[in-house]
Amino acid sequence: MDCIFCKIIHREIDSKLIYEDEHVLAFDDNNPQAPQHKLIIPREHIANLNDLTPDKLSLTSHLIATAQKLAKTLNIADSGYRLVINCNAEGGQTVSHIHLHLLGGRYMTWPPG
Ligand code: 5GP
Ligand code: ZN
Repeated sequence: MDCIFCKIIHREIDSKLIYEDEHVLAFDDNNPQAPQHKLIIPREHIANLNDLTPDKLSLTSHLIATAQKLAKTLNIADSGYRLVINCNAEGGQTVSHIHLHLLGGRYMTWPPG
């Protein structure tokens, strides 16, 4: 399968990994939109948010718990941060392997672009 994030998981593409366990990985986004911009992905290839079905509830929780933990480690838990999941074309998704964007280190604006 030609998936950039699966290639990162299998170490076929380099990334700045900051966390990994049995179920998820986290690494620096290579085109950061904030002073802190990390991506959190499941090892399992799940194309998008529509495919994160209720049977994957424990994985969903684990993705969010990982973001929470990283926010603390990065010292942005108290100042604030944003989690984003883009879904499909109009949602702005460009990589079809579900990922959480963890953004922080600056004031975020609303509405998003
Ligand atoms: P999306 O637009 O799908 O929500 O987010 C995809 C993100 O992946 C983008 O922020 C983009 O900068 C990042 N990205 C794309 N290719 C690579 C890559 O090869 N390595 C890393 N570290 N990030 C990537
Ligand atoms: Zn994949």
